[in-house]
Amino acid sequence: MQYESIAQALEALDRTQKTEAAYNHAMGVLYLDAATAAPKGSYIGRGNTMEVLSRVIYDLSTSPERGELLSYLESHAQELDPVRVRQLEVIRKDYDRSHKIPAEEFVAYQVLLNDAGAVWEKAKNENDFPSFAPYLEKIVDYNRKFAGYFNPEMAPYDALLNEYEEGMNMVTLDAFFSQLRNAIVPLIEKISGKPPIDDSFLRRTYPVEQQRRLSDYLMKTLGLDRNYCGIAETEHPFTTNFNNKDVRITTHYYENSLASSMYSVIHEGGHALYELNADDQYNATVLSGGVSMGIHESQSRFYENIIGRSRPFIHAIFPSIKSFFPEQLQDVDEEMFYRAVNKAQPSLIRTESDELTYSLHIMVRYEIEKQLISGALSVSDVPARWNELYREYLGVEVPNDRQGCLQDSHWSGGSIGYFPSYALGSAYGAQMLCCMQQELGDIYADVAKGDLSRITGWLKAHIHKYASFKKPGVLFAEACGKFDPKYYTDYLTKKFTALYQLD
Ligand code: ZN
Repeated sequence: MQYESIAQALEALDRTQKTEAAYNHAMGVLYLDAATAAPKGSYIGRGNTMEVLSRVIYDLSTSPERGELLSYLESHAQELDPVRVRQLEVIRKDYDRSHKIPAEEFVAYQVLLNDAGAVWEKAKNENDFPSFAPYLEKIVDYNRKFAGYFNPEMAPYDALLNEYEEGMNMVTLDAFFSQLRNAIVPLIEKISGKPPIDDSFLRRTYPVEQQRRLSDYLMKTLGLDRNYCGIAETEHPFTTNFNNKDVRITTHYYENSLASSMYSVIHEGGHALYELNADDQYNATVLSGGVSMGIHESQSRFYENIIGRSRPFIHAIFPSIKSFFPEQLQDVDEEMFYRAVNKAQPSLIRTESDELTYSLHIMVRYEIEKQLISGALSVSDVPARWNELYREYLGVEVPNDRQGCLQDSHWSGGSIGYFPSYALGSAYGAQMLCCMQQELGDIYADVAKGDLSRITGWLKAHIHKYASFKKPGVLFAEACGKFDPKYYTDYLTKKFTALYQLD
């Protein structure tokens, strides 16, 4: 198609983004329904619909018309505003990526991942790593190959990291993780010499119906507008967004754990605030939604840990928590509760680990991924290496692969290079706290009153409103200056030194 004017081409650009957003919206609702309300057997009929919709989206995003539209507008880039330029950049990346991977390899990889998911689940349940190993081997091979397609001039693992956090690389991460390790490992050693915190009351019986009421209260405290943000229940908590007026979070209630759902709601609530506070102008375009995994985790972990596990926040919400569970918390006071939700203890399972030791779990995965992709480690040696690193970083013995290298679903889903975002997010958040305080003064005085409006206002103005308009590195630097992990290690050192009286 020949475009007669830039205006006409931009109209076509809006149309194609709107169409793609609509299909993605429909797919997203199907996924959400599948994970929440849909009866088990409904997957049979859903398969066809999902396949058709994926095909339509793939065809649309790889079509020759889109290629022509991109080329035309790119040749007029100097006449376009920055939002348009960024839209083109994102669409170009996606377009090139789908053309770089040969169609037959793409299909074969999707089939492999589909099988690998089921094989991994069975291998985990049966503690049988060797049955999963051949699949992991193929997934690693494909990822190494795709890395070469995406960015042939980069080291393969750097190219994979870039898929999740644009601009990230091993040089930055090596320095980041060694700095974390140097700060965290000595703290853990000192804590091990102190009497353990009693958190047993968190595992009394907490009826699910009351926990649901607590979730409503927490969402209200976070400032989540229930007209635009829903909550449902799933096996594993997550957040999904369709546009900035429709975001859904999920949680999982355990009758014998108060903290599990409580902190998953605050965590997912942080993701939701990011999505809800995006500017309207990005809806139905490729710039809608959060920009990267790392920035997203910075928001969820900010609310979960930096706010949610702070003493002032516990002070603000404890009377309400107690009113929901007067019997269970009869003999518990605010300080006991604060200490219990911050108990630090090296453990085996990443998703159940505490704020202090969490990044060490990520480091283990980072080291292994790096070595797998470079070829320095073979898949059959993953369990031994995993156990060795857990011993070295966390001082724990891994009794079996089920609680070891088979615990996470990420690798079976083809996600290699994704884990570091979790640790980066925590560190980004700590630096944001510092910048925020420089501008707003003592934000914890607000937190103690249960008022998060100035905090969320700051995050909205510096992070949320931009959706995916700025690249993650630029977004962060413009909000907080140069990234420095020291903010995070200082934050952890100060918090846990006081909590465990380590001086
Ligand atoms: Zn998250």
